[in-house]
Amino acid sequence: RSKTTSFIGLGRMGYEMATNLFSKQYAASKDAHFVVCDVVPEASQSFRDVFIKKYPGANITIADSPQEAAINAGTIVTMLPSSPQVKDVYYNRIIPALASLPRAAAQETLCIDSTTLDVDVARAVANDVTSKGSKMVDAPVSGGVTGAKAGTLSFLVGGPEASFNTARPILALMGHRIIHCGDSGAGLGAKICNNLILGVQQIVVAEAMLLGQKLGLDPAVLASVVNSSTGACWSSSVNNPVPSALPDKAPPCEKNYEGGFATALMLKDMGLATDIAEKQNSSLPLGRAARDIYGRVAEEKTGLGRKDFSSYVRIVDKYSVH
Ligand code: NAD
Repeated sequence: RSKTTSFIGLGRMGYEMATNLFSKQYAASKDAHFVVCDVVPEASQSFRDVFIKKYPGANITIADSPQEAAINAGTIVTMLPSSPQVKDVYYNRIIPALASLPRAAAQETLCIDSTTLDVDVARAVANDVTSKGSKMVDAPVSGGVTGAKAGTLSFLVGGPEASFNTARPILALMGHRIIHCGDSGAGLGAKICNNLILGVQQIVVAEAMLLGQKLGLDPAVLASVVNSSTGACWSSSVNNPVPSALPDKAPPCEKNYEGGFATALMLKDMGLATDIAEKQNSSLPLGRAARDIYGRVAEEKTGLGRKDFSSYVRIVDKYSVH
């Protein structure tokens, strides 16, 4: 069992994470077995094709369902959009698969969920997984598609110490910083707070970059000033929303806002923050305003919901100035 690693959810992040995980595991052991699974069959097929081309001897199979992916796996990594998909995949597929195993086999299975989702849902799922004898951690990530590709993600992990220690060497194949934030759900709590900051910052960087241009500043000059001054942040220095503002031409704005972190997912994260804040009686004036702004971007007929969340810059001027 322990030699099989299953990866479920080969989207923008999952594809890159699985590439790093499997390549490094294969380099360490040529008889390692990998399983990939996505609700879109072409995603698994194209992952397998690319992987086999690079590593012709690799033992990689496609599972038709998460249940099939889970049944022989020592490690199961899930990277799904949000709470509804995690509930579906775990309650209807993975947990029944774990329940069908002899207890000793279930005890050898570790589930790592890297999805950003609701803290309470994550805790409830982890509870059910552990009731079958298996281990589970929530391990949402920070670092974006660039970090996923480079294998430099930060993992914010929630779960018991023993589960964290089992997960750490696996996570280290996909990321550089593996932080144990506390018990089940704590990784997600940290992730949601981080993305609250990110979501607000990305909005204000777009607004400042546009204002600067109206004041006659070259975007490259303004970006270089901000990035060496107190306004510097990831949204200005890595994910700057204005084309040609950064010298490396790497941000999604250079590819018509394709790739990166979808506005719809940022809207989801701002909703997670405002929902949990409400439950905690915490007020989030800027967080709520940012959620409303991403809601408006996601509704744009031009399809900005699927594009990187920095595409807000495209609609700033639609807001009334008074
Ligand atoms: P994505 O939509 O590109 O990928 C999700 C994948 O899950 C898709 O391939 C989809 O087909 C698959 N999927 C959906 N339902 C499924 C099911 N029932 N069974 C199997 N596969 C299923 O999303 P992403 O950008 O890769 O993000 C994934 C998660 O990571 C989200 O929670 C997001 O908030 C978080 N995240 C994303 C980024 C980023 O920059 N994209 C950064 C940090 C965290």
